[in-house]
Amino acid sequence: MGTDARDDARPALALPSDQDASGRSLGDDELAALADVIASGTLTSTKGKHVAALEHAVAERLGVAAAIATSSGTAAVHAAIVACDIEPGDEVITTPVTDFGALAPILAQGAIPVFADVDPTSLLVTPETVEAVWSERTRAVVVTHLFGATCDLDGFARLCSDRAAMLIEDAAQAWLSESRGKVAGSVGDIGCFSLQQGKHLTTGEGGMVVTDNADFARRMRLWVNKGWPYGEPNPDHEFLALNSRLSELQGAVGLVQFRKIDAMVDRRIATAQRAVERLRDVAGIRTPVVDPADRHTYWKLALDVDPDVVPGGPIALAGELRLEGIQSAPRYVQRPAFALRVFAEQRTFGSSRWPFTLARPEAIDYAPSRFVGTYAGLDRVLVLSWNERYDERDADNVASAVASAVDRLRGTARSGDLP
Ligand SMILES: *Cc1c(COP(=O)(O)O)cnc(C)c1O
Repeated sequence: MGTDARDDARPALALPSDQDASGRSLGDDELAALADVIASGTLTSTKGKHVAALEHAVAERLGVAAAIATSSGTAAVHAAIVACDIEPGDEVITTPVTDFGALAPILAQGAIPVFADVDPTSLLVTPETVEAVWSERTRAVVVTHLFGATCDLDGFARLCSDRAAMLIEDAAQAWLSESRGKVAGSVGDIGCFSLQQGKHLTTGEGGMVVTDNADFARRMRLWVNKGWPYGEPNPDHEFLALNSRLSELQGAVGLVQFRKIDAMVDRRIATAQRAVERLRDVAGIRTPVVDPADRHTYWKLALDVDPDVVPGGPIALAGELRLEGIQSAPRYVQRPAFALRVFAEQRTFGSSRWPFTLARPEAIDYAPSRFVGTYAGLDRVLVLSWNERYDERDADNVASAVASAVDRLRGTARSGDLP
């Protein structure tokens, strides 16, 4: 796939990185597509064909009626929140274990993010944890499919349709993941994706929303375009909206990337599953539990590290792995989202603290006792990078590095195994 930026001379444990050419599938085809756009002189999607073609390809692959490109995954979530047409002070239930880009749009639209606890093993919100924080003011639920694993979409679809709330899937980390055979992003009212540098495929920055609902699709397309309905009679700026378009340059790269998406995702799954097999019997390490009817696309490989078995838990294990040149992220996020400054100090518009000033006290009660699963899960998770350029050797190296690091921490390593 793409140009071969890796060479066999690299050190054994120099893993491909999604932050540069070693771990990305960008090459001559992307260059040729960019050259076409430059030669055409049309760099905006309002006149060009590439972004439209990418939208078409994504909609077709996901089996949805409409896909609309955005300038980022954050803008994708923002477009989805706008489609809900919520009133200031309305509540959107979401997860404290996610990217801030999934939360900022809720506040930016004047709504209150209400955090549900997560399952400590998967770090995913569940219909039960979401139902526990439901209120009269709940208008939408944003679920994050974390690390390439999927939330219980059937359960969430039932919950949201019973209670007449919008279901938004944040599938930024879950391109082509599946929940009970249904592709992530295609089940909720709206699905959101990111094309940022470190995602399954990339245009550097970029995003996408998908929906089967024509009204939501129109509203999201308007929001991306400053409220302007391109191509319709008697156009006007219909409501407050920003410019969140993807450019033709990005669209051209995205279209070539999207042609490779199945191969890239298959590759991630094959190598991650190989590592998972090899880690299965390592004491104190639990690999992701994947239902046979689901498809985990391994944006990252998240391990559950039992601190009762592995002394020092994920932090000590990360330290050991670093010595072998393997970077990993204990906790994934340093703090649950509600502990970030923007929430803790209500830093929003000037000194107004709006929209927090509209919130019910319970909706912004971040007492640790309400987030037992979140704190427990973050204390145990160790997140390993992964990408489609990992080969079998990389998978084996990562797995054996984890196994021997666990051995060392447990003091069970035979002297011959020590570095
Ligand atoms: C990456 C990401 C986003 C934001 O996407 P950007 O393209 O970085 O704006 C939102 N949600 C989740 C879950 C993400 O991983």
